[in-house]
Amino acid sequence: MNSATIVHELVKRPSITKDGEGRVGSYVAKLMEKNGFKVTLQEVVNSQNGTSGVITSTVGARSFNVLATKGESLNVLLQAHMDTVGPWLPVSNDWIKIRGRGSADTKGPLGAMIAAAISASKKGYTNFGLLGTVREETDFAGAIQAARLFRELNQIPKLIIDGEPTNFELMGINGMQGRAEVKVSFNGTNTHVATPGEKDNAVLKMSKAILDLEELRKNLPLHQVLGQTIINSTRVDATENGTNSIPHNAAFWVDARTSVPAGQIVNMIEAAVAPNGGKVTVTDLWDPIPPLSEGVKGLGVVALNDLKVIPEVPSYVGESHVWSREGIPSVIVGPGLTSLAHQPDESITISDIKRGEELYLNVIKEACRP
Ligand SMILES: [Zn+2]
Repeated sequence: MNSATIVHELVKRPSITKDGEGRVGSYVAKLMEKNGFKVTLQEVVNSQNGTSGVITSTVGARSFNVLATKGESLNVLLQAHMDTVGPWLPVSNDWIKIRGRGSADTKGPLGAMIAAAISASKKGYTNFGLLGTVREETDFAGAIQAARLFRELNQIPKLIIDGEPTNFELMGINGMQGRAEVKVSFNGTNTHVATPGEKDNAVLKMSKAILDLEELRKNLPLHQVLGQTIINSTRVDATENGTNSIPHNAAFWVDARTSVPAGQIVNMIEAAVAPNGGKVTVTDLWDPIPPLSEGVKGLGVVALNDLKVIPEVPSYVGESHVWSREGIPSVIVGPGLTSLAHQPDESITISDIKRGEELYLNVIKEACRP
């Protein structure tokens, strides 16, 4: 089956995050099994606890990763997420372009990877794999589960190629920023506004702390390659029975994009809000991914050397952060335009899909050279 047909089949199956990712998972699992791969379904329950496990049967609409391997070790793992954002879009294929939700992000790259893996297997290459993950568009629960199983089964991939629509440009070579999201809470005393005397006002303490953080913004760490750390106060929250009483608590959230270990920024926020009694709870924490030493050459895959490197350091968190946490080098590259991801006119050209298949096949050939 050619790569464009596979992409069309993937796009035809709705797989909005947490809502039917299993439809695509089942399709990928069956296709890989039919082509002689060892297929494992990794059921994903929750990113926070380790209760999820490996299941062996295909289950309709549940969330599970599909790991398809050839050989005992993973010299390279082609990886792409199987879920998409909403809403669902009509699907069409005029053999120039495939249109529909997920065609660019990231069923185009995924289909190209599947075709490359099957073709490499037919040519006798071994010791590589393909991983389709779930929940990328929300909390990376799929990638986190896959990483946990790699560790437990002691089957750590040497290199991961993360398939996203980058128009064949390499993303992540210069590293990626980390992220810290924290909730800052304040306690006060609930009083009716008409009560005379000094008020212990949680909202006032919170407001002062927000302004102190604005001061901190001027002194945030700068990294030569990973750039400037950015922090912003985002949501605020204070609940009480009515607008005529002083709330007994208030909270605001801070989102930091970090060029230094994320914990370091949490400590700075903690110190800045402490004078006003702010208590910090971490709600999301990802360390930055360091730049690849020796750039593209550091990956040791010549097939990637001619591709353009995106010089900018991305300040969003992706599945690469999960791999980085496990010490696995990864690079993001694939067919399709980033600008079409999540858009109402999402599409990918057949020629891009074919070029993607060729690229991924060359990567396997090199990484798995006998
Ligand atoms: Zn994506």
